[in-house]
Amino acid sequence: MGLSVETAELVAAGKFSKAIGIGGGLHHAKPSFGEGFCFYNDIAVCVEVLKKKYNLKRILVLDTDAHAGNGTGEIFYEDPSVLFVDIHQDPRTVYPGTGFIQEIGKDKGEGFTVNIPLPPGTACDAYQYIFDEIVFPLTREFEPELIIRYGGSDPHYLDDLTVLGLTISGFKMLGSLVREVAQKVCEGKCIDFLTSGYNLEILPFAWTALISGFLNLEIDLSGANEKAPPPRDYQLQETKEVVTQLKKILCKYWSLK
Ligand SMILES: [Zn+2]
Repeated sequence: MGLSVETAELVAAGKFSKAIGIGGGLHHAKPSFGEGFCFYNDIAVCVEVLKKKYNLKRILVLDTDAHAGNGTGEIFYEDPSVLFVDIHQDPRTVYPGTGFIQEIGKDKGEGFTVNIPLPPGTACDAYQYIFDEIVFPLTREFEPELIIRYGGSDPHYLDDLTVLGLTISGFKMLGSLVREVAQKVCEGKCIDFLTSGYNLEILPFAWTALISGFLNLEIDLSGANEKAPPPRDYQLQETKEVVTQLKKILCKYWSLK
């Protein structure tokens, strides 16, 4: 936990515009108990430290892990200072079974939780679409002072626990998109926590791909053994339908088109 907080503080204190924490993002841990391989929610602790110590008023927390971040979501469910955007595999098909589009926060936090469930197999173009249609516009309107993204390699199509459809190049794209969002709204201030992944041959390449996109570095990723990847636009149409439904819910709170 100390490591995650210290990593986040490097950005909040203005020492660096970006920082990467390896092993952070324990998003299933609830306020009073751990679950889903997560003993405590380091993201929630980070956010609280940043708010109290650095007086931050608006933080975007972006969860791209294949599983919904049920712990993080619950902790910030009534908190309008945290816009929590969670992109994950359809909860009807995987643990933890929460993270539906109707889960949007409560009381003062209503509208500040955004769940984007994806059909099994969802590939790279759908992620790009989600950023274009949801993440970029919401973030521009929310104007976060800092962004925290977390999640590891389990959206890869060869992951052994999940069935999403990202490729290694898709992870690089994801890292690049996060960098672009941060660049546009908060002078690039962003913290990236890498954790999870259940195919140990893929994990190092996917994590490195995320880092290469996030830091805009050219890194040779050709060693990844990716056989028969799904087409880039796999499940794009279905994702568009999810996004359309989600926008109908969110337009009460945000000026989404
Ligand atoms: Zn996961």
